[in-house]
Amino acid sequence: MSAPNKSYDPVEVEALKPEEIERMRDEALAAFAAADSLEALHEAKVAHTGPASPLALANREIGALPPHAKADAGKRVGQARGAVNKGLAARQTELEAERDARVLVEEAVDVTLPYDRVPAGARHPLTTMMERVADVFVAMGYEVAEGPEAEAEWFNFDALNFLPDHPARQMQDTFFVQGPKGTEESGSGVVLRTHTSPVQARALLDRELPVYIVCPGRVFRTDELDATHTPVFHQIELLAIDEGLTMADLKGTLDHMVQSLFGEDMKTRLRPNYFPFTEPSAEMDMLCYVCKGESIGNPDRPCRTCSSEGWIELGGCGMVNPRVLTACGVDPEKYSGFAFGFGIERMLMFRHNVEDMRDMVEGDVRFTRPFGMEI
Ligand SMILES: [Zn+2]
Repeated sequence: MSAPNKSYDPVEVEALKPEEIERMRDEALAAFAAADSLEALHEAKVAHTGPASPLALANREIGALPPHAKADAGKRVGQARGAVNKGLAARQTELEAERDARVLVEEAVDVTLPYDRVPAGARHPLTTMMERVADVFVAMGYEVAEGPEAEAEWFNFDALNFLPDHPARQMQDTFFVQGPKGTEESGSGVVLRTHTSPVQARALLDRELPVYIVCPGRVFRTDELDATHTPVFHQIELLAIDEGLTMADLKGTLDHMVQSLFGEDMKTRLRPNYFPFTEPSAEMDMLCYVCKGESIGNPDRPCRTCSSEGWIELGGCGMVNPRVLTACGVDPEKYSGFAFGFGIERMLMFRHNVEDMRDMVEGDVRFTRPFGMEI
């Protein structure tokens, strides 16, 4: 910067020459136009409008001019700086608009996309099957009854007429619950229930007669897990105790159940069997729901579901043994009743062609998903 000097001619000061000012202005505008991002524009802004920019330096020269020359030079520099600032603001607006448009595209949220990307879970088919069977009986006025899974031996065996030497009471069939430390190993008197039948005894002791209950639940046996066995499985059990109930009521109830679950033209048949807690006892079969019995003796129409037997074994049933009624404080002279039970896993296997029982316990969603969502 030079000292004030009356003879000083702004046109002679290199930085203040009109063409120099124009060049500075045009360079600044060109730099702004060339900036292709807000970052690049910021650099151009510092270079062309900052305190060390050519126009700022030229502006400082004005102070050294004689008074008569200041106005002219100031006007030229001021106009150039005005044009530069205007160009800068315009480019800034352009680049910001471009950035906003780009952000709108890049960070767009498509609100029409499905929102449930996390697949919804489904209840296990064993649970829904058990509830479906229970519903058939609830519709007939039965109540759902439940009991503990760790059960007193008395309820699991004695009350149901299992004599002390019955093979089911042996260690190879039953999980005995160990007592507290320092006591006899099998002396706790508690087992993991081997069937849902103890709920029958509990219901008879707890409830007023007549009793109509359905008992779904988890039971335990000391089986190894393989394609047809599992140490934890599910049963559903039915008990009806009233005055004047007969085997005909049992048969009619079984027929109604299979018709509700498998179709109107279904029926059941009974074959003699033995269970300690029923007398007489029977094995119940239902008509094969696929071939409806037409595969029997008919080599032209084989049936895989029933192995061409025409019937499918479902479970056990019978009239409640008077000894069980007596053990539970019910007068067998006045009351009679029937009970039946079957395994849910088995029903799921033949109803849905599940070939390996392990699929039901492994928790793989690829097994449960095809059964769909049921609430
Ligand atoms: Zn069949």
